[in-house]
Amino acid sequence: MKKVYIETLGCQMNKSDSERISGILSQFGYDETTEEKEADLLIVNTCSIRQLSADKAYSLLGVWGKRKKDKPDIKIGICGCVAQQDKEKIRKRAPYVDLIFGTHNIYELPELIKKIENGEKICAITNKPVICNQNDFKIIRKDSVNAWIPIIEGCNNFCTYCVVPFTRGRERSRQPEEIIQEAKNIINEGFREITLLGQNVDSYGKDLNNPKITLANLLRDLNKLEGNFRIRFVTSYPSDITDDLINAVEECDKVCKYFHIPMQSGNSRILKEMNRHYTKQQYYETVEKIRKRFSNVAITSDFIAGFPGETEEEFQDTLNAMEELELDYSNTAAYSPRAFTKAGKMTDLFLSDEIKYERLNRLNEKNKEVCLKSNTKFIGKVLKVLVESKTLKDGKTILNSRADNNKIVHFESNKYDIGDFAEVKINLAQTWCLFGVAI
Ligand code: SF4
Repeated sequence: MKKVYIETLGCQMNKSDSERISGILSQFGYDETTEEKEADLLIVNTCSIRQLSADKAYSLLGVWGKRKKDKPDIKIGICGCVAQQDKEKIRKRAPYVDLIFGTHNIYELPELIKKIENGEKICAITNKPVICNQNDFKIIRKDSVNAWIPIIEGCNNFCTYCVVPFTRGRERSRQPEEIIQEAKNIINEGFREITLLGQNVDSYGKDLNNPKITLANLLRDLNKLEGNFRIRFVTSYPSDITDDLINAVEECDKVCKYFHIPMQSGNSRILKEMNRHYTKQQYYETVEKIRKRFSNVAITSDFIAGFPGETEEEFQDTLNAMEELELDYSNTAAYSPRAFTKAGKMTDLFLSDEIKYERLNRLNEKNKEVCLKSNTKFIGKVLKVLVESKTLKDGKTILNSRADNNKIVHFESNKYDIGDFAEVKINLAQTWCLFGVAI
């Protein structure tokens, strides 16, 4: 067997793609290795959400290019969002790269690998995905407890700061039978958690007519499968969360009571500039509706600090929203201009790095404060958790688990192991995690 090393940058969708790439390559004589230096094939699966991430990919190609000078037989590949967007730039900056393939070309890998092994340099970037049944290909999953299933890819929303519609294309839902078959395979393999993935997961099914399906009904179908497992779904778009979806989450005992709903800004003018299709008020109403229905629910979000033209008062609305909504956790980032996007062209409104990062710091401080407040609410409560890993500390076994509502919970026990569900009474809260005792 030859060896392939895959460096994955970016989101869960990229991690899931890498598991699929690894699986396909294993069928063509490549074993995945974690040791870069022993690899015959090096692949970087890139992310272009922020400039920092794209820069990291180019710097890695630089290091690998130097290695190829000493070891000319190694092959170098690049895929993901940077490859989809920047093929000409990659060719110029790293002419030694053997394989450039786009987000739509993963399932062509068997053909592409043969060609580069025969010495060809290949660039396979299309705007149309290869239509295939993904279950025909092997997947090598990294985690032993959670398995990702991408159910919809691409996005139609065109938020003005985001490259996803350009790199991943328009929304395409997978057929429900294919998803259910993948879920059955996962459950049979012993996984305890299924995470349904989509850049805009609540849009699932909008592009399918035969059969007609929604995310809510897909959850109901998956919930009927036999087995001891739970289901999550990410990422939700605020105005796409329907009452039926909330009903389905309530009805389905295997579906986690957890919603990740990026708000991005707490100010309605900025939301409009971002081309987000909801106001601050509508977001507040959605959060209120969810909180009323579920007692231990957690709601997490994403926020951008320093969007072009954002005033200090408008930024204050974001800080207030984080606090007023009592969000359980938020991913935060300073605005990063991206090629092709509308906001990337608003150069006269760009804020200085100094302002953006000062706002980001304040956002992070508020995030910490609000997370601790949220975690403290769980002291004395019993949460159902799934053990993900364990560590030995001072001769004691500490289990690291995740509650249904996505809170990280640590507890000491010799009774439970990785992959077990347990009920834990929370007795201590810290900013990013909870501690408790199994009951
Ligand atoms: S909803 Fe907006 S931020 Fe999310 S993937 Fe689509 S365009 Fe990007």
